[in-house]
Amino acid sequence: MERRRIGILGATGMVGQRFIQLLNNHPWFEIAWLAASDRSAGKTYGEACKWKLDTPLPERIATMTVMPNVPEGTPAGELPKIIFAALDADVARELEPKFAAAGCAVVSNSSAFRMVEDVPLVIPEVNADHLPLIEQQSWRKQTTADGVPGGYIVTNPNCSAIGLVLALKPLEERFGIESLFVSTMQAVSGAGYPGVASLDIMGNVVPYIKNEEEKLEEEVGKLLGSLAGSKIALLDAKVSAHCNRVPVEDGHTECVSIKLKKKATREEILAAWADFTPLAGQKLPSAPDQPVEYDAAVDRPQPRLDRMRGRGMAATVGRLRECSLLDWKFVVLSHNTIRGAAGAAILNAEVLARLGKLDFKKPVAVRA
Ligand code: NAP
Repeated sequence: MERRRIGILGATGMVGQRFIQLLNNHPWFEIAWLAASDRSAGKTYGEACKWKLDTPLPERIATMTVMPNVPEGTPAGELPKIIFAALDADVARELEPKFAAAGCAVVSNSSAFRMVEDVPLVIPEVNADHLPLIEQQSWRKQTTADGVPGGYIVTNPNCSAIGLVLALKPLEERFGIESLFVSTMQAVSGAGYPGVASLDIMGNVVPYIKNEEEKLEEEVGKLLGSLAGSKIALLDAKVSAHCNRVPVEDGHTECVSIKLKKKATREEILAAWADFTPLAGQKLPSAPDQPVEYDAAVDRPQPRLDRMRGRGMAATVGRLRECSLLDWKFVVLSHNTIRGAAGAAILNAEVLARLGKLDFKKPVAVRA
């Protein structure tokens, strides 16, 4: 299969670097375009980026020129039709619509459009059936004169919401969720680069991450909601979140207590997680075989030991035990810049490719 040309907007940041690492040898996508702020435009990627990952910066990428951050900054015909975006929310709010209006599929990591009614907020294992919402977007409806459909925005959730909701989905399906309490311990890479000052975080815990608790609480409702016509009916469950920054490099750990609508035994809950393989057989390159892995050891999951399960795309669950306030409690861990960001967006794009939503071709005339 010929690889599709893709671009990365915000390519020099923590998530942008993960995109480069994960897409460098991707079988379906080829990195053809990179952009970041005006500070970086015009430089080579190697000059503009402080590479922070533990694999070498690929040589071909290092020599690519960082392009201006608007579609018209690239010569006509050279802008890829698929843009992975890793921008801060304020910047994303301004720039992502410009790329959608220019006819691109924008696969975004930012919170800017996650809760907008006609924008899908998607984890493929959980709610790929929300993707048809893109057809409601005004950019998408702007078909060219020869019938090529317009661009659109698809988002992936907050980095803590992804691991949490992967663990919740099998429970919601089998037992229904009435309420849950979650307390997070979030890695410093989740704050981007340079992120939290070392003097603030070394030997310390910061019990505040701006807007994080609100995002986590509302995104759970949309992700576990159902598509009703052209809208998402939110899950009717109470969610209370506490979010904390901890001195861990990568990997968000979350302690969860949950009340179910239908009583469930420990064995039934473990079976719900073990049986959860909704993408099996689809042959999506980034999909883990087992999206939720249960570890029975008393002291797992741990970020250093478990964040790379499923090539960084699996959520690890452990310590399932009865809760004296709600019904059950457990711990879930996932890699925040892979499953929680770049890897999640790439998996979204793989599903869009399978659905034919990255083709941007004029419809083939069918003869009677
Ligand atoms: P980051 O390390 O601060 O990187 C920000 C990127 O945006 C850089 O490439 C920067 O380019 C670029 N940028 C800044 N202003 C710009 C502008 N005006 N036009 C174009 N590009 C601009 O942030 P990050 O951690 O990668 O996060 C990016 C987004 O992903 C955020 O919305 C974040 O909330 C979300 N997210 C992050 C994580 C995580 O674990 N880190 C997880 C999930 C979601 P320069 O180098 O040129 O300044």
